[in-house]
Amino acid sequence: MDKCVYTGCDNSRRTRGLCHGHYQVLRTYIRQGKTTEAEQEQKGLLMSKGTGQGRVPAGHGDFLDPDATGDAK
Ligand SMILES: [Zn+2]
Repeated sequence: MDKCVYTGCDNSRRTRGLCHGHYQVLRTYIRQGKTTEAEQEQKGLLMSKGTGQGRVPAGHGDFLDPDATGDAK
């Protein structure tokens, strides 16, 4: 399995190229307005949706991301 795209992080990728921990941090930053998904995608720190790495089976993603699914309706 590939490693997290975050430089120096050896954790396995979980969501959109990031490990679970980094994805949670990123989501927090986005919620706080410190960054945006588009900005992180441009930096290569976040994979585009649908690239396969971050797909979670229906019903399993809810607890991860109750509010960030708003753009995926
Ligand atoms: Zn990481």
